[in-house]
Amino acid sequence: MAREYAKLNLNKMTRVLSKLNKSELIDSKKVVSKGIRTAQSKAKESNCYYCGTPCSSFCNSHTIPAFSLRNIAQKGKLFSANKVIEMRLVEMEKGVKAAGTFQIICKSCDNTIFQEYENPENYLNEITSKMLAQIHLKNTLKMISQRKMEIQLYANIQFGNQGKFKNKINQMDLTELEEELAYAKRKINKSYKGDYQIIFHKKLDYVIPIAFQGAVVLPIDLKGAVINNIYNANPKHKMKWIQMAILPMEATSEIILFVDKGNIRYREFRKQLNSVDSLEKN
Ligand SMILES: [Zn+2]
Repeated sequence: MAREYAKLNLNKMTRVLSKLNKSELIDSKKVVSKGIRTAQSKAKESNCYYCGTPCSSFCNSHTIPAFSLRNIAQKGKLFSANKVIEMRLVEMEKGVKAAGTFQIICKSCDNTIFQEYENPENYLNEITSKMLAQIHLKNTLKMISQRKMEIQLYANIQFGNQGKFKNKINQMDLTELEEELAYAKRKINKSYKGDYQIIFHKKLDYVIPIAFQGAVVLPIDLKGAVINNIYNANPKHKMKWIQMAILPMEATSEIILFVDKGNIRYREFRKQLNSVDSLEKN
């Protein structure tokens, strides 16, 4: 039952929340916000997670490049993914500045290590391994930051055995994410064609109203066959992540799904995705 656990819990929590009245909801929000703030401050690093330099003021790094957010933002606000999953505890609308941010690298790194992929002009040509490595790196840093915060959150005594179990899973994730990070870091410094396999890439000739960037572990493919056995809690059975970026440009949009070179678990999924009729893909 390993990693499925979190998802089931979220569904249960969403059901419970939908039954609360307004004042109960406000109280719950306060408790959760306080818990998250405490966990965030405990999880704070003392050095930049990329270059290792001692750092007192971390950059508020955006997961989705600001140019993409600006292309879809209405009046400076945009809907976060919470709107979609109806998670009522977190504010549904966020300003462009606060959308999907993490704070574990220094400002100098944030300004330099994502430059190629954050430049819309680079999408006029073929997407390079370096750009993919930068997306991979940022997705992984965000996941590491989240897991570290969750570890502090679930270490809270009130979560009891549930918290201990959740943190065992979080630690396993963290170990795997560190390996992902090491790969992305190597490829940022020296990348070759073929370092990443594109699972799916589509350039749309219109601006889609949603932006997303992140890494996910897909449990099954389009035919229901297992890609990652999320019920296997053995640390030797590693989860394989797929990197995703849905980026609205000024007049077009990019949809990119990719994995690192050695990741063969998504082979069938890749074939399935690319054989679906293009109308369905859109
Ligand atoms: Zn740095």
